[in-house]
Amino acid sequence: MAIAVVWLKRDLRLSDQQALVSAAKSGLPVLLVYNFEPLLLSDEHYSARHWHFVAESLNDIKQRLPINSLWVGSEDMLSLFTKLHQRFNISKLYSYQEVGLNNTFERDKSVANWCTHNQVSWSESPYAAVIRGKPNRDGWDHHWQTVMRADTANCDLNSINWLELNQKDTLTTESHINQFLSDSNSKLHGEFQAGGELQAWQVLNSFFENRGKAYAFKLSSPQYSQLHCSRLSPYLAWGNISLRQVYKTLLAHWNQTGWRKSLVAFSSRLHWHCHFIQKFESESDMEFRPVNRGYENLPRISGELALKRLRAWQQGNTGIPMVDACMRCLIATGYINFRMRAMLVSFLCHHLEVDWREGVKHLASVFLDFEPGIHYSQFQMQAGVTGINTIRIYNPIKQGQEKDPNGDFIKHWIPELSGLPATLIHTPWLLTPMEQMMFELELGVDYPMPIVDIEQSYKQAQQLLWSWRNKPKVVMEGQRILQRHVRQG
Ligand SMILES: Cc1cc2nc3c(=O)[nH]c(=O)nc-3n(C[C@H](O)[C@H](O)[C@H](O)COP(=O)(O)OP(=O)(O)OC[C@H]3O[C@@H](n4cnc5c(N)ncnc54)[C@H](O)[C@@H]3O)c2cc1C
Repeated sequence: MAIAVVWLKRDLRLSDQQALVSAAKSGLPVLLVYNFEPLLLSDEHYSARHWHFVAESLNDIKQRLPINSLWVGSEDMLSLFTKLHQRFNISKLYSYQEVGLNNTFERDKSVANWCTHNQVSWSESPYAAVIRGKPNRDGWDHHWQTVMRADTANCDLNSINWLELNQKDTLTTESHINQFLSDSNSKLHGEFQAGGELQAWQVLNSFFENRGKAYAFKLSSPQYSQLHCSRLSPYLAWGNISLRQVYKTLLAHWNQTGWRKSLVAFSSRLHWHCHFIQKFESESDMEFRPVNRGYENLPRISGELALKRLRAWQQGNTGIPMVDACMRCLIATGYINFRMRAMLVSFLCHHLEVDWREGVKHLASVFLDFEPGIHYSQFQMQAGVTGINTIRIYNPIKQGQEKDPNGDFIKHWIPELSGLPATLIHTPWLLTPMEQMMFELELGVDYPMPIVDIEQSYKQAQQLLWSWRNKPKVVMEGQRILQRHVRQG
């Protein structure tokens, strides 16, 4: 007997699932495979919340299969494929083309070698509208529209020739899923969005039913964005829903009265999704170095001071309420909106002068929606090392005053400050000793003093960044980046 394997990675769904459709068409018995790889489990970009979400997604898939045809392993990828090949004789392997970190790219190369060596044919379908090896953006926007408007790849689950696993294999699969559910559970102390295709559609539908109407007006508020942003990011990042499914739903609601501004804003974000992943695909060593090589030697602090500042930032103890509230919210929920993510990076790199590489994995590990392509591109943009984007140094006090004027968000995440009035909550270090007594807050004891002087750090960062902006290598690299990643004309 020979079989077809669908290798699930970050495409944990059964609809608009090209690999599954192709495997079904092969006529061979089909087995779905997911592997909790030690390579990724030990990678600092990931944390228990991610594997918990994946386990929930797998549970959802398992429950919707007509028979037991999902194999979940937890071992090195090649040893799992070798084991499956010996048992079932894999003839065809199907997956999507992952745009991931360097370790998954290297792993894919060794899987390709393994396939060649074992006469297994491996077909990879493209990820959304991302084009592998594309040297520039010629025709890219047109391609995006074509892919997003094409029919979704669906097949009737009941008519697939599934490979039925025996009781023992099914129990092994269940134990792996449960291990990641329960293992992670004991380490999770927050409220996270639940994984699964069903959940993804519920979240999408609720956005278009009511939540999304105010999207354009609320997306920068740390508090209201939680409700009015789509909250689809973990479902897109782990593939519980495809970008095409989301875009088609958007088009179906395009003429909804009173929604136009929000739908236009949402549509732009869906374009950005693939745009940033395409950037990473075309220049993946941005995982390790600034995309603009001119910034390789941008002066950053190091040693004890850098470590001390980094720790304070990671733990939400910098003494700057808006920064700390956002970080604590992220740690507890895995989510914060775009503006606050940008502010967190800006604060780390510009105000604290810490190298972006020191913070990039921490944010990845707390973002439930960690998506390498978007994350690295955005992180570098906010860290000011691309040389093509406007230099933007966020002032976290101003952000707080504008986006959380009453301090409700801060009070929720920093209960130590909940007794302060709105006029004082964004700058608690200005409290007089008398006020500290009145509001029962001892600075430096109940809540830290700020680790930097924001006004001073802002001025320094601005001077530094503008003085680097016109360096010949930065300019030359900027032109190269524009040629490669931006549509011409
Ligand atoms: C430093 C930094 C790191 C980021 N890392 C990630 C990440 O790892 N994973 C991730 O999905 N997003 C990341 N973003 C982008 C953005 O903040 C999130 O996609 C968004 O906040 C998710 O919430 P939502 O689903 O409610 O978004 P919505 O505003 O409802 O947008 C819908 C979808 O569009 C896409 N999208 C939205 N904003 C952007 C953007 N600026 N760039 C690219 N795609 C976008 C996402 O897929 C999102 O789910 C990052 C932004 C910054 C500044």
